[in-house]
Amino acid sequence: MSRFFSSKYKNLIPYTPGEQPKDTVYVKLNTNESPFMPSDKAIKYASEAAKKLQLYPDPECRELTEKLADTVGVKYENVLVTNGSDEILNFAFMAFCDENHPVVFPDITYGFYSVFAEINNIPYEEIPLSPDFTINVNDYIGINKNIFIANPNAPTGIALTLSEIEEIVKSNPDNVVVIDEAYVDFGNESCIPLINKYDNLLVTQTFSKSRSMAGARLGFGVGCRELINDLNTIKYSTNPYNINRMTMAAGIGILEDEACTKANCKTITENREFTAEELKKLGFEMTNSTANFVFAKHPEMDGNEIYLKLREKGILVRHFSKKEISQYNRITIGARNEMEMLVNALKEILKEN
Ligand code: PMP
Repeated sequence: MSRFFSSKYKNLIPYTPGEQPKDTVYVKLNTNESPFMPSDKAIKYASEAAKKLQLYPDPECRELTEKLADTVGVKYENVLVTNGSDEILNFAFMAFCDENHPVVFPDITYGFYSVFAEINNIPYEEIPLSPDFTINVNDYIGINKNIFIANPNAPTGIALTLSEIEEIVKSNPDNVVVIDEAYVDFGNESCIPLINKYDNLLVTQTFSKSRSMAGARLGFGVGCRELINDLNTIKYSTNPYNINRMTMAAGIGILEDEACTKANCKTITENREFTAEELKKLGFEMTNSTANFVFAKHPEMDGNEIYLKLREKGILVRHFSKKEISQYNRITIGARNEMEMLVNALKEILKEN
């Protein structure tokens, strides 16, 4: 730490992204990226956009936002696109939470929520999951605090139903409820239509998973016009050109090829079922994940040891040291051959044990 670092950040523990080692070529199943390239249209549009990099991008992101609004079935005024969904999540913490508007989220969830709360000096409470890792909806009914819930949750992959989400939103009318749908496209219905009924609901999604664009950094939020206006105030006060030209163009290309996104999601869902079946045969226990990952533990082998042994064999998965989940590994669903390599590696590891 330099002697200039503000004391207000001295206790800040930053978010730790999944490792990206360069020592060898790994089968990368640790950051929930898509195994598929983005559609040709996205690549073509982004290349064309690169020819105009000397010019600032459109700060309104009008064409992309219009297309996106159309795709998710809302109006232009209901959408804000951001630099990854991490940015809209941070904007939501900045815009709607403060000492008088504290926030709650599950104790086991996306690790960035607590970091956003910390950096923005927002009091927060982490509500324990049930022992089976499900979110207990009653814990959030009428809690009268702002709420962040990933649905499906990470790293468990377990989803709440639409009616459970609606109960939470309905029972906290004076608080903002943010539903983070980063993984919604792999087997769940989005709660976006509820924004027309509830002015306290913000839904966030990302192009990083189902739309194969993690490297481009594109996410978005959907909510009533007033919520989006507030989030725009934060955007124009921090980074008006938050979406670069190439990302904007690639986003338009991806949205013009929804069939490709749907086909990729179907393949990933099938690969998830394949992986879950194979892991079960090897004695693994898993949550009922509807995301592009499984969350698995083995009764006879330590979670961290499995992670390390897989790493030695060139396969990266994500292990979290937090006590309640330290026996588990979160394994991203990749292409079928990658999942076969994983299963074979696990067979060997269990045999060696
Ligand atoms: N929400 C959840 C639950 C996530 O797991 C992630 C990805 N790490 C994000 C949001 C952020 O994704 P991105 O910024 O790539 O859109």
